[in-house]
Amino acid sequence: MLLPGSAIEVECLKEFSRGKFYPLYFTGTKFAGVMLEMIVGLEHIGIAVNSIDQALTLYEQLLGLKLEKTMKSSQHKIKAAFLKVGETEIELLEPLDKESPIWKFLKKRGQGIHHVAFRVENIEKILEQLKRQDVIMIDEKPRAGIRGGKIAFLHPKSTGNVLIELCEH
Ligand code: ZN
Repeated sequence: MLLPGSAIEVECLKEFSRGKFYPLYFTGTKFAGVMLEMIVGLEHIGIAVNSIDQALTLYEQLLGLKLEKTMKSSQHKIKAAFLKVGETEIELLEPLDKESPIWKFLKKRGQGIHHVAFRVENIEKILEQLKRQDVIMIDEKPRAGIRGGKIAFLHPKSTGNVLIELCEH
């Protein structure tokens, strides 16, 4: 139940009347639902690999995807390759060193899907909204992505073990 007259109830009803809010369920004073304007597309799927060169044999040569770009980021401690798949992309991620979160991921879980990235239009607003619904954030505030724009990760603890990235370009 939402507390009648609470700020969150007022906002909820306002958004619902605009057709922007689709309530899923209510718990205490928190609402759980989706703002329909939140996610505008699947930006990319991030895949952790031991070697981008080796992985390209599969994605480029066998599956025929088009390699758009490769880049290195010492800040993010990764090497990345982007392959176009229709409206979205595959992002291959190779660690640059043992400090890289991708190196830790590979050591723990092996190669495979690392994260799913959704395209959004107002990342600050969405993060604020998710925080109010007790979603645990890795990034409380957006930061610069490897290709510019603003990104933020949500904690897998809050998202059924799926690491979710939000991207605004
Ligand atoms: Zn990503």
